[in-house]
Amino acid sequence: MPNRPQPMFPEHDTQAFWDAAKTSQLTYQVCKDCSTVVFSPRAHCTDCGSENLDRRVSKGAGTVYTYSVVRQNRVPAFAEMGAYAVAYVDLDEGFRMLTNIVGVGDPTKDVHIGQRVQVEFEAQDSGEYPIPVFRPV
Ligand SMILES: [Zn+2]
Repeated sequence: MPNRPQPMFPEHDTQAFWDAAKTSQLTYQVCKDCSTVVFSPRAHCTDCGSENLDRRVSKGAGTVYTYSVVRQNRVPAFAEMGAYAVAYVDLDEGFRMLTNIVGVGDPTKDVHIGQRVQVEFEAQDSGEYPIPVFRPV
C-alpha cells in the first residue's frame, strides 16, 4: 500500500510531534501559565497566547467522540483501503484529535460513539513518519 501523505518540513509547530511519533509516542502540550491542554501542536497556548508550553507524552487511551465512514477515496494511499472510519478521538489527557479507527471488520457497524480506543502507529516506508491511528480495546 502506498504511504500516507507525509508532513512537509521544515514546519516549526509540528516537527517535535512527528519526531516523537517515530518513537511511537503520541505527544500533546500543556500551557505552563494557565494549564490549558493544547492540541494540535503549535507555538502558542490556544487560551492565553503564552509560548510557555510543556510537551507531554499521552498514554494513548481515549474515547470515540464521533466518526464517519469514508466508502471511497481515490487518493493512492487510501484507494485500496476500502471503507474506513475517520474519527475524532478524545484522549484521556483532555485533547481531541482527528484520526482513523483501524482493526475493525466493518467500519459501518463496528465503530461506535463512546467506544474506548488505544493509539498505535501505522508504519510507513523506511524514513517516513508513522501515522497515529486508534484501535478498539
Ligand atoms: Zn495558556
